[in-house]
Amino acid sequence: MPNNAAPVHVPMIQFPVVNDELLVGAMPLTQLAARVGRTPFYAYDRALLEKRVAELRAALPTAIKLHYAMKANPMPALVCHMAGLVDGIDVASGGELKVALDAGASPHEISFAGPGKSRAELTQAVAAGILVNLESFREVTELASISQELGLPARVAVRVNPDFELKSSGMKMGGGPKQFGVDAEQVSALLGEIARHGLSCEGFHLFAGSQNLKAEAIVEAQNKSYELALRLAADAPTPIRSLNLGGGFGIPYFPGEQRLDLAAIGANLAALSQRASADMPSAELVIELGRYLVGEAGIYVTRVVDRKISRGHIFLVVDGGLNHHLAASGNFGQVIRKNYPVAIGNRMGATEKESASVVGPLCTPLDLLADRMELASAKPGDLVVIFQSGAYGASASPQGFLGHPAVVEVLV
Ligand SMILES: *Cc1c(COP(=O)(O)O)cnc(C)c1O
Repeated sequence: MPNNAAPVHVPMIQFPVVNDELLVGAMPLTQLAARVGRTPFYAYDRALLEKRVAELRAALPTAIKLHYAMKANPMPALVCHMAGLVDGIDVASGGELKVALDAGASPHEISFAGPGKSRAELTQAVAAGILVNLESFREVTELASISQELGLPARVAVRVNPDFELKSSGMKMGGGPKQFGVDAEQVSALLGEIARHGLSCEGFHLFAGSQNLKAEAIVEAQNKSYELALRLAADAPTPIRSLNLGGGFGIPYFPGEQRLDLAAIGANLAALSQRASADMPSAELVIELGRYLVGEAGIYVTRVVDRKISRGHIFLVVDGGLNHHLAASGNFGQVIRKNYPVAIGNRMGATEKESASVVGPLCTPLDLLADRMELASAKPGDLVVIFQSGAYGASASPQGFLGHPAVVEVLV
């Protein structure tokens, strides 16, 4: 590629193409749209979810426990499918806890992180017997009193706000002043409070950040997390049984981004689990991934309603938009708006391409799903596909905005 060529999206080869149509769950897209009965919809491919977990397992040492952070995609059928594939589910609210339990995840393998857990949520957690990642001193006293009230033990670990950041991260969630976790400097005092209230600390949880595509940065964060946990474990009254090293594995969304190189991460985790067997022999090492597990297995499908030309610029007006897919519109944490990978899903083989913008039906210029992209020439009735949409889609979008119907989600 010449140096001055514009950066492009990595090819979306996870979905096969037959007779110009994308296959999702082995079904041609137009047939799937007929089966769903309406557009827009999200479709998640079961086989791709399985393949992704299998690839990860092959790259990581067997001692590493793999958790699914269900905030990425809480669709109940999908969580149920994931629960059968991974070693545990991480939840971030009482509502997510219900879905995880309904999905059949063992309470022993569910953990709960997030700032501002309410007494009601902590009560649910103790009653269910799941692990709570403590994020404040208040949560210790609250849990101790709930435990007494219910006559059940509270299972706790400490979420640590580390004294370092995950470099090159799309979203930083540790280091500096943060609402997440307890500052590393305060953990010793927190452990004292835990013991004083008669609770026992099962381990530590460190989550430095999200959406990272640089293996070296993830390796560095995992190593620093390990060292920090080792130091903190020295103050814990009982041996550490669980060390959650976080995740942050990213997927390529935008032009120029490449898929994460798992080999280096796998090798580093193998070295860490080797060390842990000597340093903390009773500890399980856990990583928790959201988008990396589910993001590439999902698409958003929306139908072209209108094709307009305004002063020479082609607009494909579709029946879905930022109300269903805020992230693809560039309004979910992006600093500069960039296009997700987009295609006309029933014209995958088209040689005739044109520059077009895909816009939704909302009366705001923010409702832009693709800005001047090279797409197959499309007309009303065609199906626009947005790839990399299995995470932070339906549940992370303002579905009430402008009063359109809620989006449908299918697992195929
Ligand atoms: C959001 C979140 C995750 C998942 O992040 P991804 O980028 O989707 O992998 C994992 N753990 C915690 C604590 C989170 O807040």
